[in-house]
Amino acid sequence: MSITFRSSVIRTLLADVRARAPQEACGLLGAAGGDVCLVLPLTNALASPDRFRLDPREQFDSARLLRARGLDLVAIYHSHPHTDAVPSLEDRELARGVPHLQMIVSLVDPEPRLRLFEPEYRGERPLVVV
Ligand SMILES: [Zn+2]
Repeated sequence: MSITFRSSVIRTLLADVRARAPQEACGLLGAAGGDVCLVLPLTNALASPDRFRLDPREQFDSARLLRARGLDLVAIYHSHPHTDAVPSLEDRELARGVPHLQMIVSLVDPEPRLRLFEPEYRGERPLVVV
């Protein structure tokens, strides 16, 4: 399935990760038919500048909210406030067995860098903004 991002979604996502820097931000992206239309920021349960863990309770509630709205959970995002948008070893561990796309937003440069990856970081997808 092709995935497209509304520019308003990208703006919301960037606002979230910038507001939470220098800690890593994380959350979920919901889509309707491949059109990513909802950003759901979740608490980073580790409250760390270089690691993240989706708050399990919020993750559960968010999955229910997405279902109630008829949206698909397509991607998990998190930020790298201090490093490039390259998955860490721990990121790869966390993504094991997770069927969703992964997005990393790097804030290391003045211009944020967003990269979208296949599940388990098995390759990269172009970021299509409409
Ligand atoms: Zn990471």
